[in-house]
Amino acid sequence: MTSAGILTTPARFPRLLLPATPAHNPLDIDEAIASGAFTALRAAVDELKAEGVIGALVESGMRGRGGGGFPIGEKWRACARVEADRRYVIVNAYQSDPAVMTDRVLLETNPYAVIEGAAIAAFAVGAGEVVVAVRTEAADAIRATEAAIAAAESAGFIGGDVLGTGTEIRFSVRPLQGSYMLGEETVLLKGLEGKRGQPEQQPPYVTSRGLYGAPTLIHGPQTFAAVPTILTGGIAGFPETGARAFAGTVLVQISGTVAHRGVAEVPFGITLREVLDVAGGVPAPHRLKAVLIGGPSGGILPPEGLSVGFDHDSLAKAGAYVGSGSIVVVDQHSCVVDLAAVLTRFCADQACGKTIPCRIGLRRLAEIGARICDGQPRDDEIARLTDLSADIVGSALCDHERRATLALLSVVRYFRDELDAHIVRNSCPAGICQPKADARAGTVS
Ligand code: SF4
Repeated sequence: MTSAGILTTPARFPRLLLPATPAHNPLDIDEAIASGAFTALRAAVDELKAEGVIGALVESGMRGRGGGGFPIGEKWRACARVEADRRYVIVNAYQSDPAVMTDRVLLETNPYAVIEGAAIAAFAVGAGEVVVAVRTEAADAIRATEAAIAAAESAGFIGGDVLGTGTEIRFSVRPLQGSYMLGEETVLLKGLEGKRGQPEQQPPYVTSRGLYGAPTLIHGPQTFAAVPTILTGGIAGFPETGARAFAGTVLVQISGTVAHRGVAEVPFGITLREVLDVAGGVPAPHRLKAVLIGGPSGGILPPEGLSVGFDHDSLAKAGAYVGSGSIVVVDQHSCVVDLAAVLTRFCADQACGKTIPCRIGLRRLAEIGARICDGQPRDDEIARLTDLSADIVGSALCDHERRATLALLSVVRYFRDELDAHIVRNSCPAGICQPKADARAGTVS
């Protein structure tokens, strides 16, 4: 039983992260070993050695599954090269987006893949400690991870004597409870240290100064779970499972007006239309109006955007990003202007307040969205919105500020008719916003 349903995908979609068979018992380590678990760790320790592992990852071109999609091999190399007595590996499974459960589903259904990938990372960069950071409410994921860690330690794959080499790689699970910003890597580190969580300017990058000032490697569980495939599946074969620049697969959570909601593993680079087909598309009589991609600070694409490739670069060009892996399908009964205004207000509320352009700028941006929805736009509201967004992005300290502008900018870019209807004609085509303005004007009782 997992936290969210796993959607059936076409046979041509490889399963590299989630278990291939529904009957799989995720905590049975013998079953996992019979399926190939820890083969890559053994190859890393016995044959490749640390430099060989890093070289293989660099050569694979693999990039992080979520977030900004940075090349992971370079990150590992940078972390390994810093002179230090101790290093850490962090599995960032905090997953701030409250509507997304992909990380916890992965930990519940395939914990050994995450543990193996993180152990390989620790071996490659010379870290003696791996911390799995999980939201406190993800109780099933915490239980599964702790049980899998205990079994892997008993079997000698991790712990005080990894595969009989004398290498020590200790794992622990740290349940965390905090704000939306806790998913940001520098905030997560402060949370693990018990400090107040606010992002830090980078550089210095966490690969050189991370947890307790030591070099630290942080990835989401999907990224770690993909590592064994690279080492055992062959470097050359991995890119063929996805878009060339974004090898492999990624977990998405599809919700909103679709026939089937849940978590799906899809290859990077397929079109957004193919991703939505996994969820059975939009059931009649509903009609597709928009797709919100990347979570609360994501971008909103129109139906014409379904041909965009689902990978970091293609989505960035379209004004969205993979982010949390959230895909929310919106039908004709929703107002995209209202949706963007609500998301912007959420992002303004979640900003940590450390930097003024974000603290004040996002608040002003949310007010613009609210004025438009309330039928009280000022002159030149769209120019004010785009200018302010450019200022906010230009002064951003962290990605939250950069991305919080995406929703309203998406509306300006793709839904101009609906936006103009609100501003010019004081009307909401979906019938969501205007009644508020009418009510204030006394025309609705
Ligand atoms: S940009 Fe916003 S969220 Fe990021 S540190 Fe500054 S105030 Fe906090």
